[in-house]
Amino acid sequence: MSEVQPPVPEPDALSAPFWEACRNGALEFSACDDCGHYFLPAGPCCPDCWSPCMSSRAASGRGHVFSFAVYRRTYHPGMPAPYVVALIELEEGPRLISNVVGCAPEEVAIDMPVQLRFEPAGDFMLPRFAPVGDEKETS
Ligand SMILES: [Zn+2]
Repeated sequence: MSEVQPPVPEPDALSAPFWEACRNGALEFSACDDCGHYFLPAGPCCPDCWSPCMSSRAASGRGHVFSFAVYRRTYHPGMPAPYVVALIELEEGPRLISNVVGCAPEEVAIDMPVQLRFEPAGDFMLPRFAPVGDEKETS
């Protein structure tokens, strides 16, 4: 049985390094070299002080659910409902939109601790988050 892949990213010059890091098993965020602000997604300048001087840092992969929604309608055959779209706040501070996997949508809660888990999709490794303590490997 061939599985339908979930939609994959379309990297541009700014986001390509992020996706390349994901392929290497690292979730990277941007760090402003001038004011120390950490942020996602990557941009042409720091959203806090507009400095163009930035470097990237690897996230620990730990975070928590800042906000979420349960999608109960399938919009893409590779993302069958129900699934959870969540704003994840990394322990370093930056937030990113991702999916909570590894538990039923009904188990997801605000502030729930989660950990990074990469899941393959086409040529990409997508950063997703599972409840802390969920050690299941994806097949
Ligand atoms: Zn800055």
